[in-house]
Amino acid sequence: RHRAESTLPWVAYSEALEAETQARVGLTQALRRALENDEFEVHFQPKVDMATGRVIAAEALLRWNHPTRGLVSPGVFIPIAEQSQLIGPIGEWTLRRACQHLKAWSDAGLDLVRVAVNVSLIQFRSGHFPDQVRRILDESGIEPQQLSLEITESVFASESTLLLEQLRALRAMNVRLSLDDFGTGYSSLLYLQHYPFDEIKIDQGFVADLMQRNFNRNLIDAVRRLAQALDAEIIAEGIEAADVRDELLAMGIQFGQGFYYSMPLEAEDFRWLLERRSHLPLTRGRTE
Ligand code: C2E
Ligand code: MG
Ligand code: MG
Ligand code: MG
Repeated sequence: RHRAESTLPWVAYSEALEAETQARVGLTQALRRALENDEFEVHFQPKVDMATGRVIAAEALLRWNHPTRGLVSPGVFIPIAEQSQLIGPIGEWTLRRACQHLKAWSDAGLDLVRVAVNVSLIQFRSGHFPDQVRRILDESGIEPQQLSLEITESVFASESTLLLEQLRALRAMNVRLSLDDFGTGYSSLLYLQHYPFDEIKIDQGFVADLMQRNFNRNLIDAVRRLAQALDAEIIAEGIEAADVRDELLAMGIQFGQGFYYSMPLEAEDFRWLLERRSHLPLTRGRTE
């Protein structure tokens, strides 16, 4: 009896682990077929000039519609794609799709400065990522300065010269580089100055409870001055309320993004926003 008791927690743990492994294997297999089955869709969330509410850019956010599970969050499937080498083809598809949408919007005379696409560090492993970007820009017919690539702060953890060279090559092509989720991890002033970022995105964790904590206010102000010194633009993500927007504006932050302005939208809905020349948020009735 004593033995049975002492092994029980292990059994429970092992079963949970087994179930998790099974789920992961299942998702990996489903992900492998998702591209050919056309199960992905790119949604777009506005980036806004906060003083006017004008939409200046769109962040492309990938959505996976699993045949039986329904919508699976990128927080779940992107890590699986990264571990299974599927991020290469999936990332390429997303980039192409986002550029095609932007091209269609600008051909229709709709006023949007650029589209931002999230890129995983794994996509830099082969060393040919800038060639892929160049090819997709040529194919889709958009200008390099209309494309922004968002790379998370973990870019600094790798200390890879291959990666840094590719970032510089992209920058030399006039593609914009954005540092995503800033403030969550690895950044150091020493690293930052060597990287050619045009934009720094303050992580939503700092923005969300801005009204509660003085600490965040000081931190955001420090990041603002840092961005200024590096000649980079700064944008706050995760803005969910008007008072946070007001506070950020008062602190001299020009650009913002978040549910307060708009959820990520299907391409047709985003286009509708552009057609209406909407100023955000819509609930304030400020559409022209
Ligand atoms: P991210 O690039 O930092 O994107 C912001 C995430 O915050 C998005 O979640 C967005 O829907 C969500 N969000 C926007 N406004 C608000 C807000 O006001 N409040 C809150 N709580 N959340 C807000 P999503 O779409 O689930 O994406 C999660 C992450 O998955 C992204 O974080 C990005 O790192 C990754 N991801 C999404 N699409 C792609 C992709 O195409 N490629 C790669 N490599 N990663 C992607
Ligand atoms: Mg992003
Ligand atoms: Mg982010
Ligand atoms: Mg749809």
